[in-house]
Amino acid sequence: MLDFNHRPSFAEKVNAAVDAALTTENAIRAPREYLGGSRLGHACERALQFEFTHAPKDEGQEFSGQLLRIFAIGHSLEDLAVAWLRRAGFDLYTRKGNRPDGGQFGFSAAGGRVRGHVDGIIAAGPEGLGLAVPALWECKTMNAKNWRLCVKDGVTLAKPVYAAQIALYQAYMEASVPGISAAPAMFTAINKDTAEMHHELVPFDAALAQRMSDRAVRILRATDAGELLPRIATSRDFFECRFCPWAERCWRLAV
Ligand code: SF4
Repeated sequence: MLDFNHRPSFAEKVNAAVDAALTTENAIRAPREYLGGSRLGHACERALQFEFTHAPKDEGQEFSGQLLRIFAIGHSLEDLAVAWLRRAGFDLYTRKGNRPDGGQFGFSAAGGRVRGHVDGIIAAGPEGLGLAVPALWECKTMNAKNWRLCVKDGVTLAKPVYAAQIALYQAYMEASVPGISAAPAMFTAINKDTAEMHHELVPFDAALAQRMSDRAVRILRATDAGELLPRIATSRDFFECRFCPWAERCWRLAV
């Protein structure tokens, strides 16, 4: 029941000011004009098409201030992981020339309509790890539940979207960093609740990279032709649809 007598606390007022600043800043940020390689492993191609074409999200589905803060904390933790790995003896490049003003490593394909930015490239690792280099480094932060799943099942099973990203990046980075697809990538997962870290080596999965690349082509072609790709499900109750920010829009359509 709504409490019309509720008077916002000091904390609520400060948080409202912070969230308003973050959501305003996010709203004026130029949208991506390309298909992000980090997203191509998403289960539903129609959702990816909505994202690529900037279809407005359903009411109440825009990123909240809290979600934007979660993303920002994740990025800061990734910067910390870079520093920790370097201290441990990893020769890890996150920018060209490892200079703050050096551009991020990444790729651009399909005339710039598919792009990706890599978290880092490992040029050498501490002795005794038997790392093959150059190796792609991908880092994600997650809650304890997802982190434990990654540790138990490995990233490929626990987080197929990340596995797809890794495979695609290894394939597309090969042109600028020869040998990167021959070396297993190093995946780092940080537990946001406990600061525990998980690392695993992910061998290149060429078939997965090809499937993701084909998927990108399908999305671009359908968009150019003004066609909508099929839904992933036949019922709105499907797991992905329940969490999809375009569910209203999607299921309102005849097809
Ligand atoms: S509602 Fe379901 S089918 Fe439609 S775009 Fe979202 S995930 Fe895909």
